[in-house]
Amino acid sequence: MRRPFLLLPLAAFSFPAGAAVQEPDRAEERERLVRQVTNLVATSGARRGTQLRSAVIEALRRVPRHLFVPEAVRADAYRDRPLPIGHDATISAPTIVALMTELLDVAPEHRVLEVGTGSGYQAAILSGLGREIFSIELVEPLARSAAATLAGLGYSNVRVKAGDGYAGWPEHAPFDRVIVTAAAPHVPQPLIDQLRPGGRMVIPVGEADGDHQLMLIVKDMRGRITRQTILPVRFVPLQRG
Ligand code: SAH
Repeated sequence: MRRPFLLLPLAAFSFPAGAAVQEPDRAEERERLVRQVTNLVATSGARRGTQLRSAVIEALRRVPRHLFVPEAVRADAYRDRPLPIGHDATISAPTIVALMTELLDVAPEHRVLEVGTGSGYQAAILSGLGREIFSIELVEPLARSAAATLAGLGYSNVRVKAGDGYAGWPEHAPFDRVIVTAAAPHVPQPLIDQLRPGGRMVIPVGEADGDHQLMLIVKDMRGRITRQTILPVRFVPLQRG
């Protein structure tokens, strides 16, 4: 029997009247990606056995990754791969975002510093997990566009500033959590200083043209630092402003 011609997914094409930007939500693609990412994190790589906690999965489900990337690469937004966002910056593959977010272990009362706002996607993920997110981006047009995207989508607990994240954001320190999404040859001392005792930092470390190691840095209640190497990664370099 032939299917009736009108059985089209009309709902996918209906938008709230008067919406400024008429973009499909793509929730089904996102759901498929989240399942794939959850399985990948659990079954492969150096952190095999890592179970994403439900709050992280929920954040990945909610944030519309396609609205954080340029139109030219939007079709690929729900594949597990990094995407170029202009100005030599890259939004990390969802598996890396998921793993870094999991390692960061953000609680609802936390104030979080992100260095390398890029598209604002990672900040949006953190927005649903912590209390206040402070994000610094060196490239001013990226900072401006990420701030606009975040505000437009209602992530009102995220503050973005253009500047050199190497120095941290002393006015808002100390932070419970610090995440750096560009690779530095050494962990910037100001970021360690601005981490609260009991805090943790996730950061890729390595030379600009070499391999990077994702590191988890923990500051105990007495201020002592321990470092743990998690897995090899590739990030854009942390530039000095
Ligand atoms: N977290 C981003 C991805 C960032 S890519 C996202 O979710 O989309 C790394 C970003 O770090 C780039 O945008 C780059 O411009 C920025 N960056 C490089 N050096 C920096 C510095 N010293 N301070 C702040 N941002 C920096």
